Amino acid sequence: MTATNTPQQPTLNQTPTAVNRNVPFVPQIVVIEGPSGAGKDTIIKELIHRYPDRFAKLVSVATRAMRPYESEGHPYHFVDNPTFDAMVQSGDIFEFTIRHGEKRGMSERYINDLFAEHKIPLKDCDLVGVRALKSRFNHVTTIFVTADKAEIERRLHGRGDAPDDIVRRLQDYDHCVLDAPHYDYVINNVDLQKTIDKILNIIYNKGYGKQ
Ligand code: ADP
Repeated sequence: MTATNTPQQPTLNQTPTAVNRNVPFVPQIVVIEGPSGAGKDTIIKELIHRYPDRFAKLVSVATRAMRPYESEGHPYHFVDNPTFDAMVQSGDIFEFTIRHGEKRGMSERYINDLFAEHKIPLKDCDLVGVRALKSRFNHVTTIFVTADKAEIERRLHGRGDAPDDIVRRLQDYDHCVLDAPHYDYVINNVDLQKTIDKILNIIYNKGYGKQ
């Protein structure tokens, strides 16, 4: 599979915006899910860039070894096995997966820490994670972003993914989009700016307040 042309990188509003402090903060979690290449990371980064004092990425807890270029919180809260198990025992980690012996999960404490700073945690999350979040928190908004397969392929090439990864991600695409109807909202992420505006509107209508 070869890309026929290189995708344009989306144009972004580069100016961070202050949050309107008169609007009450409603603690809520916003899940942004979708097939690889749909734009989840880009959207999450843009929301945080625009409103750094309102949004933050929700970072999972993981037992895998930290790589040389990584640090605490980037991309995980790194803990050892006994610490992870204790966090599960105490109920703090309320959802986790084990792959190749490495554990990764979501911690309630880190979510509450963000709420205490009046920040909305943003997270990509499959349906198992969504169910766990919804069973533990009152306000969870789930948004599925997607794009058509040919566009996804162009974006994966444009992002510089390895050819094998592109093949695998395109295979996963068909399976992944079947989950779309189970999310609260589905957005076709064609124009990034419009996607961001739609997401802000969704959050606003859920009670978070106009920026
Ligand atoms: P994901 O996190 O869902 O795997 P990324 O955020 O890494 O996807 O986006 C994949 C590529 O697509 C990136 O190169 C990004 O710049 C680009 N991209 C994201 N949104 C759009 C868009 N609306 N239009 C064009 N390119 C986009």
